[in-house]
Amino acid sequence: MNYLVIGGGISGLDAARLLKQRKNNVILVDAKPLKEESLGFCQNNQISFFLQEEFDFNKIPIDKVILSPGVPLSLSIVKSAKALNIPIIAEIELALENFTGPIIAITGTNGKSTTVSMIHHIFNVLEIENSLCGNIGITPSSLALEGKLKGILVLELSSYQLEHISSLPNDFACICSFSSDHLARHKTLDQYFLAKWKIFSWLKASGQAMITPSVLTYANNLGLSTPNNTVIIEKENWKKLKINETTTNMQGAHNLANAYVAVNACHALTGAPISTCINALKNFRGLPHRLEVIAKYKTRCFINDSKATNIESTLVALNSQHKPVCLFLGGESKGNEFCDLLPYKHKIEKIIAFGSAKEQIKNELSAYFQMQLYDSLAEACEDLKNIVKSSKGDLLLSPGCASFDEFKNFEERGSFFSAQVHKQISNFIS
Ligand code: ADP
Repeated sequence: MNYLVIGGGISGLDAARLLKQRKNNVILVDAKPLKEESLGFCQNNQISFFLQEEFDFNKIPIDKVILSPGVPLSLSIVKSAKALNIPIIAEIELALENFTGPIIAITGTNGKSTTVSMIHHIFNVLEIENSLCGNIGITPSSLALEGKLKGILVLELSSYQLEHISSLPNDFACICSFSSDHLARHKTLDQYFLAKWKIFSWLKASGQAMITPSVLTYANNLGLSTPNNTVIIEKENWKKLKINETTTNMQGAHNLANAYVAVNACHALTGAPISTCINALKNFRGLPHRLEVIAKYKTRCFINDSKATNIESTLVALNSQHKPVCLFLGGESKGNEFCDLLPYKHKIEKIIAFGSAKEQIKNELSAYFQMQLYDSLAEACEDLKNIVKSSKGDLLLSPGCASFDEFKNFEERGSFFSAQVHKQISNFIS
């Protein structure tokens, strides 16, 4: 068969590799030239590469198209394939073609990675065979290639991936949170919501669904009906199961909500007792860059929550704090409304505003908060000693913005902050 893979990132390259392993002809296209190492990879694996605009369906007949998650359906090459009635599938669907095991599918604006990691952790502690992949950064194709798609599949799904998928029969599906994001791709909030809601269209009749109260309200407003077996992710419910900060070792209501989903998923798929699943979470270490305590100075903590790239996540981080914090806020605004922070005024001692969003933060919040402004996080870190001296609470980097004005991604931003804190902490004492 002749396959066309659209997207030259990690998902596209892994899909191409998998297709070659399955003895197909593969053509890869991307809007931009490939990086040198990716091009070398294509040459070594007999994968032809074309720039998107140079590819012609009339010259090379294609039997099937594979989409990488980053590819919008509005792209002209996708539209051309559709017009020619060429089957189009998602990279995930390709990878799972021969997979028949149970599937746990998790989506949500925030909390996906934490929840799937908790599920993976519980299964590992209970020695239940499982495979973790999807938006978490491990492509399903890479696992298929290595013959590692085994046991229960724990799948993190972004709205981009869901948009591409036509069929993904699953045993447990969850939308663990929903707030405004990714409008550049989905155009409207309703369309973003509907992409997420697709996760339930493939839930098996015996399967279990989980949603938050606000997801339920949004669905009701759109006239969508919930699957038969739907459980609501709310405090009363996780309290009943004795999921709390002591039993799980997790901090913050959002993490207890994630734990509630994880415990339910593991119980639903294996019948393992709820208390056993909760116990298994006890030694789960949260993921890096998510409310990660990176250092302590006297009674004060330095917390790296660089993954908070939207205001919603910053609110979640503030909500989980027991005392007012010195909040590092800034980076590249994504059309943020920083005044959303006002209801959390009692959780904020002072704001360190930085990056290209600093003027907007100043305009929207300086009337309400004590504030220091810096051009960049690097500049703020140069002044760390003074910031520490002029505040009393924990220091929380929960920027509520993208990192791209200063860093490659949120990981680089978090690692930079962490390195600066560790480098300077001995100076704070003098
Ligand atoms: P994702 O993979 O969906 O981006 P993560 O699990 O990496 O989400 O968490 C990113 C941030 O989202 C966390 O640092 C936290 O601030 C926030 N968050 C985590 N879980 C939830 C949740 N259940 N509801 C709302 N926000 C959450």
